[in-house]
Amino acid sequence: MNVQYITKVGEELQNQIKDEEFKRIVKSVLEDPTGWPQHKINFIEYIPSQEASLSQDASLSQVASLPLSQVAALPPHVCKIYLRDGENSNKICGMRGLSCARFNKDGRPLDIIINYKNWMGGSRSELPLDQYHKYVINHEVGHWLGLDHSKCPLEECKKRGIAPENCPASIMQQMSKGPNHIGPCKESCTPLPPDWGVDNLDYDEIKQITAFEKDNKINENTSNFAIIQLAIYILILIMVIILLVYTIITNKKKNTTNTTKYNLKNKFIY
Ligand SMILES: [Zn+2]
Repeated sequence: MNVQYITKVGEELQNQIKDEEFKRIVKSVLEDPTGWPQHKINFIEYIPSQEASLSQDASLSQVASLPLSQVAALPPHVCKIYLRDGENSNKICGMRGLSCARFNKDGRPLDIIINYKNWMGGSRSELPLDQYHKYVINHEVGHWLGLDHSKCPLEECKKRGIAPENCPASIMQQMSKGPNHIGPCKESCTPLPPDWGVDNLDYDEIKQITAFEKDNKINENTSNFAIIQLAIYILILIMVIILLVYTIITNKKKNTTNTTKYNLKNKFIY
């Protein structure tokens, strides 16, 4: 299953980290075969189509320089991953010191905000920084793909003969809150393989999330066109009925007048 994504560094961080650098890290995490690809999710970088009046060749270099507002305006099936400073992350996510995935009123994923303070080692996680990056991207993308938080999979570890202290955490546990928060599980930075049945995805839901808006618009336009066509048919039918009724009434009147005239004539003769 394909998921298109785009990355963007907040304008407030342009002197700290370049768009290209953030994109390179996110891309390496999303395309890592031990990450979501083992759950059959292929991440493809979003290239704006002709709709955005960007040519295919020019798009790659232009994507990095798209302002935040233009990235936000991209179609909803595109997974938008932002890196924002601590202050903006707290404000946007409504939680202090965490990254987040946001959803709209219909429950459709909106975007992902990665907290730069944590990105630079400010979280309580004890994972090495490159692994923390892997964790935070996989975790927030897991939310975007429809997963909620989960617990330490102790039962599954027991079945596999793994001691609780060595039990790997689900990617949907909150590593940013530190090792105690996810205990007795061990911090981990990738989703557990599908045969664990822990970090498994609902593919029907993802199909809906990633459905192209363009298709929806076509369907909408098609149904609007059908309604207009039906209204025209009904109008024509009403006009035909009115015409028919008018013709019948007029003919009847004519006949009545003719009969009267004929009678009068007859009367006159007689
Ligand atoms: Zn979370």
